[in-house]
Amino acid sequence: MPLLDGKSILVTGVLTESSIAFHVARLAQEEGASVVLTSFGRAAKITQKIAKRLPVEAPVVELDVSDTEDVEALADRVREHADHLDGVLHSIGFAPQEAFDFMGASWEDVAPALQISAYSLKALAKACLPLMSPGGAIVGLTLDASVAWSGYDWMGVAKAAFESTSRYVARDLGPQGIRSNLVAAGPISTTAAKSIPAFSKFAQWGEHAPLGWEISDPTPAAKACVALLSDWFPATTGEIVHVDGGFHAFGG
Ligand code: NAD
Repeated sequence: MPLLDGKSILVTGVLTESSIAFHVARLAQEEGASVVLTSFGRAAKITQKIAKRLPVEAPVVELDVSDTEDVEALADRVREHADHLDGVLHSIGFAPQEAFDFMGASWEDVAPALQISAYSLKALAKACLPLMSPGGAIVGLTLDASVAWSGYDWMGVAKAAFESTSRYVARDLGPQGIRSNLVAAGPISTTAAKSIPAFSKFAQWGEHAPLGWEISDPTPAAKACVALLSDWFPATTGEIVHVDGGFHAFGG
């Protein structure tokens, strides 16, 4: 039986074909799921075009996670395409360029990074809750926030908050049978990655990862997301699965 046979999955964060979320949506459909995408503003037109390149064209609903009205309307917008959700992928990250200068950034620069990249996991989980039932899964993507990275700055702090947020979502939704887990992916060349000024420094990742690492290949991270969305991690929540070629486990 396919891994997500008959499941209904909400996938945020498809911007281009390089988006990690695009590959999660693709693999989820290949594994038997029906998929609804979210996008917002001007990006929504691009997402609609990209949605046609999936094995099955997926509908796109409007969601800017920093817009309270969008968040409150999400369940009704999803209901136009799906009567319930078995899984939700959070694949959203944003920080203003100024936030990549740790000592120079102001609170006004940092606040959107924390709201859109960390708080949004709670907002998304709460918005989807009316459509979810026991066995449901929320999955997000992080870059290992247990250390400070050169060039990642307030986005790194936002990822630390994101990882903590996932644990609190796991705490509060666990009693309803809903899991919250993250994939800590190695660097992948996507639109969001290219907006990180020092992203090129991550090019050496594969040299320090025992399994090696292909920066242009989002599939390993996407496969882990699909696995965590499936019924094959029924007793796992608040967890962070590293999909980084083994980089995190070695001191060099
Ligand atoms: P991407 O640019 O393809 O995706 C980022 C998405 O965030 C876009 O679809 C964008 O529309 C969406 N987004 C931004 N602001 C939003 C808002 N206000 N409301 C709703 N959506 C919003 O890049 P990606 O690399 O696929 O990023 C997906 C996730 O993976 C992010 O959380 C990112 O931090 C994480 N991640 C990426 C890497 C990497 O190296 N690319 C590594 C580890 C984790």
